[in-house]
Amino acid sequence: MKITLPQNVCKIISDLESRGFEAFAVGGCVRDSILGRTPEDWDITTSARPEDVKAIYRRTIDTGIEHGTVKVMMGDEGYEVTTYRIDGEYSDMRHPDRVEFTVSLEEDLSRRDFTINAMAYNESRGLVDLFGGMEDLRSGVIRCVGESGERFNEDALRMFRAVRFAAQLDFSIDKDTAEAIRELSGNLKNISAERIQTELVKLITSSHPERIRDCYEMGITAAVLPEFDVMMKTPQNHMHHMYDVGEHTIKVMENVLPSKVMRLTALLHDVGKPATGTVDEEGYTHFKGHPNVGAEMAAGILRRLKFDNDSIHKVKTLIKWHDVRPDATEKNIRRLLSKVGEDLFPLLLDIKYGDILGQSDYMREEKLAILSDYRRCFEKIISEKQCFTIKDLAVDGHDLMDAGIPAGVEIGEKLKSLLEIVLEDPARNKKDVLLSYIKEGLC
Ligand code: ATP
Ligand code: MG
Repeated sequence: MKITLPQNVCKIISDLESRGFEAFAVGGCVRDSILGRTPEDWDITTSARPEDVKAIYRRTIDTGIEHGTVKVMMGDEGYEVTTYRIDGEYSDMRHPDRVEFTVSLEEDLSRRDFTINAMAYNESRGLVDLFGGMEDLRSGVIRCVGESGERFNEDALRMFRAVRFAAQLDFSIDKDTAEAIRELSGNLKNISAERIQTELVKLITSSHPERIRDCYEMGITAAVLPEFDVMMKTPQNHMHHMYDVGEHTIKVMENVLPSKVMRLTALLHDVGKPATGTVDEEGYTHFKGHPNVGAEMAAGILRRLKFDNDSIHKVKTLIKWHDVRPDATEKNIRRLLSKVGEDLFPLLLDIKYGDILGQSDYMREEKLAILSDYRRCFEKIISEKQCFTIKDLAVDGHDLMDAGIPAGVEIGEKLKSLLEIVLEDPARNKKDVLLSYIKEGLC
């Protein structure tokens, strides 16, 4: 097996070897290279101690010095160089209580999570594969290094990682490994929100977001996203739908682009349904008010998982407006645009598209035609530079003060009323026209 290492990686390995240490590319980069995927980053494992690594290079960063990791900077690129280590006990099921350095590559590889992540490579020794990683890559299997239950008891996050890798690589999960996950997934409750967030995002932005179903079936979402389990158990009986809320959610994820915001929005867009569901006399289900309830719930969930405020704001806004269905007139779209904002509006159209494809095919053509009309209106409004925000009004606060409106809250109120007038008819966005509304007391 021949892997082409980037020049900088070769240089670091040979710098270390020429000083009598061992060094290998290891983990994800070896796995991805063998699969013909582009590695996200290149990690190096070495028998050298952090202080030895730091003595060689001028520019290093102590990114995880307590775990033996030093980042070596070459140009703009950083390479994590980690000393061979054995992880100590994990009494909190999260972090090793201490790490112990070793000079044995075998020991370092055996602390790693899965066989496909436990291979090392350098040019002199070629591929070092002590646990059948190559075979598992060939047959597409995620399998723990060593005894699964033991490995998951050391670090519960590995259970979520197993499904995340399965989704990214379209692999199956080995039977023993899967059984251990079913048994121990409840321990994911003890894992920090930040670590859960990372795996959740990698899973849902992968090319197989439907693998979140594995998380449900193995008890992972019960521990980290119980709201999803409730969706999986919420039926929808209506001609517009052919799936329960959970399966519909999965279909919507599959039909939007794999960005963090879009996939999170798809994942949570109907999270308000279980709480708002009713059944009418004919047995049909309805979910009145679910977008507003869902927007609040989604914000709460994302805060709990420690997402950044910008993502929370975007997802919340998109969920709040995902189900409005006005007639496709320019006026209606201007109004919607003024609430959603220009940057999020195309994403709203995309989530609506995914939502339609996740429904039954009842009236699908009509629904998609309306969506195209929305898009045309949106593009026309933008290309004509029509006004749909207060800052685009032909008057501002100073103009209103000049016209005799006292400074203070009233100015803001008047600007809002003027925006309503302009949203109704953009031709009114002229200074003299708007001031005449003010002077005549019409707003
Ligand atoms: P990605 O493409 O997501 O970066 P990766 O395999 O590089 O995948 P990282 O989280 O960057 O994953 O970790 C690098 C390597 O460190 C892994 O390949 C694995 O060998 C090891 N590793 C990471 N996290 C764990 C863990 N929780 N338990 C055991 N080994 C781990
Ligand atoms: Mg990595």
